[in-house]
Amino acid sequence: MKAALFEKPYTIQIVEKATPKPEPGWVLIKTLRAGICGSDLHNYRGCALRNNFEAWQQLGFAEGHELCGEVVAVGDKVEKVKIGDRVTAEAVWHCGSCYMCKSGQYHLCLDRKDLVWWGDGAFAEFVCLPEKVLYVLPESMTSSEGALVEPLAAAYHAVRKAGDCFGKKVLIIGGGSMGQLCAGVAKLSGTISLSILVRYDHQAKVAYEMGCDSVFYPHASLDSSLQFDVVIETTGNSEAFENATRLCRKGGRIVLLGGYPHPQNINLAPIVSKELQIAGSLCYGWDGIRKEFEIAIDLLAKKKINVTAVVTHEFPFDQISEAFRVASDKKSGSIKVHINFNL
Ligand SMILES: [Zn+2]
Ligand SMILES: [Zn+2]
Repeated sequence: MKAALFEKPYTIQIVEKATPKPEPGWVLIKTLRAGICGSDLHNYRGCALRNNFEAWQQLGFAEGHELCGEVVAVGDKVEKVKIGDRVTAEAVWHCGSCYMCKSGQYHLCLDRKDLVWWGDGAFAEFVCLPEKVLYVLPESMTSSEGALVEPLAAAYHAVRKAGDCFGKKVLIIGGGSMGQLCAGVAKLSGTISLSILVRYDHQAKVAYEMGCDSVFYPHASLDSSLQFDVVIETTGNSEAFENATRLCRKGGRIVLLGGYPHPQNINLAPIVSKELQIAGSLCYGWDGIRKEFEIAIDLLAKKKINVTAVVTHEFPFDQISEAFRVASDKKSGSIKVHINFNL
């Protein structure tokens, strides 16, 4: 099979590799779609976001965890999925037995492993994954939507971490795909006003389609008199963090879900002087009743949220280098870039 190898920063090679054979409990998936995530871009730019950088280098970097694919082979003891099913996958594996897993917070598992740890990730013609991270997609869902379940579940988790948004003034910082998906979920939760801070006009246009009432640009229109009950910061940089603490009202809540690949030099004083509540948001998990992945699938399958505007570009697999260049350069007009293996 052909697989993308992230050889060094800004350099992706398509190499020939043996197609994996599924072990017991594992499933071989033919990739139909794979989305480029912000964390893929961090690694594309050479940033060791993950702490096991040396092991990754020895393997050769593989990326891609927002996927939709078709099951083509199953190992022994696989019961939940069958050949021909269209599936997507949670991006992390959890042990199921540590105290975080047992307390229902399996996304914080003490032994959590990235999906691509084992092999090639979804930027490959085939990807082999454990059955337990897979979800079968309803037929009504497009493959593009299927590849958006993972980031939508992360957006759902972030909005849930914001607490009850009903009747609240909510600001989203960042017009990238996570900001846009958070806006879509926040709109569903009954905000009285939904605002977004973006850098580019194409992000503003999509934000209105996702249900935002107003759009701000940094510096031009950011007045400290604007005070929001909830701020969801999706970009992971210090300027955005300072905007969040400045624009959140006293006693308000800030949710952070940017990857923060670098240490930040930030002013913490407003957290104390305004008694701000700060919550981190990592991936998705169990909301107490259901898995957030199942909720994201339902939101899409029941057409409660329209995410089509978020996917601005798609490329065939053999143009993955160009796809990453476009995804990495926001001036290109990109928000979410997909690799479509059927092109
Ligand atoms: Zn991601
Ligand atoms: Zn665990």
